[in-house]
Amino acid sequence: MGRKAGRTLDERRAEWSARWDEVKPAPFRLAREVVPGLYQVRTRGSRCYLVVEDEITLIDSGNPGSGERILTALKELGRSPDDIARILITHYHIDHVGGLPEIQKFAPGKTGVHIAEAAHVESDQPLPNPFQHPLLAKVIQPYLLRNDPGRARVDVVLQDGDELPALGGLRIVHTPGHTAGHISILFPNRGVLLVGDSMQYKFGRLMLPSRLFSEDMSEAATSIRKMAGLEFDTLVFSHFRPIVGGADQRARDFARTLAVSAAS
Ligand SMILES: [Zn+2]
Ligand SMILES: [Zn+2]
Repeated sequence: MGRKAGRTLDERRAEWSARWDEVKPAPFRLAREVVPGLYQVRTRGSRCYLVVEDEITLIDSGNPGSGERILTALKELGRSPDDIARILITHYHIDHVGGLPEIQKFAPGKTGVHIAEAAHVESDQPLPNPFQHPLLAKVIQPYLLRNDPGRARVDVVLQDGDELPALGGLRIVHTPGHTAGHISILFPNRGVLLVGDSMQYKFGRLMLPSRLFSEDMSEAATSIRKMAGLEFDTLVFSHFRPIVGGADQRARDFARTLAVSAAS
């Protein structure tokens, strides 16, 4: 993506942040447009995304209880759940997959999950505990069992490089580390990379995914280096505001710091 001459990255970042604040939705609006055709919806516990064109692609489904919000967001956009052609899940954590069984009741679209995680989603067993620290995992386990969404349907298993028809073609990018089957989604025609939980964006800085819930930090760093090699301009996250414009350079700068610390 071309740089605009004469303006520093900080200036551009400030401008885009201001623009993002300007378009804060009215209180009753659940869906907010990040780039044309791509809407972010606040679900319980995270954010999901709607690619809205003739057919709709839903990405992630929030914690259990999020189905109604997603339905309401669709209504706000003048659309119906019948328009959902496909549902993609970035990874099996409950704040991404928890609303899936509810949504599958009203949306006929096919659900895609990475091949490494399809079994977790389809299983009758509770979702695996995401906490890496054994004590924290033990403390949270009763909550997880109480809130487990139950099994959901997986129609398509996804792999790195798979392409699907949304926003002129999206590409599945396998980005393991946070979980083994985590996927990011690249929209080459919109210059957007949706990274789910494979990166954090806090205090204006890109960061590795949270150690608390991530299975393999060195693999997470490798995935960030892989993503930094892609062409995009905008980064969207599951728990943080997006970086709209100039995001590729920031990801590259961040990936370089990871390469340095890995080598030292
Ligand atoms: Zn996660
Ligand atoms: Zn999450």
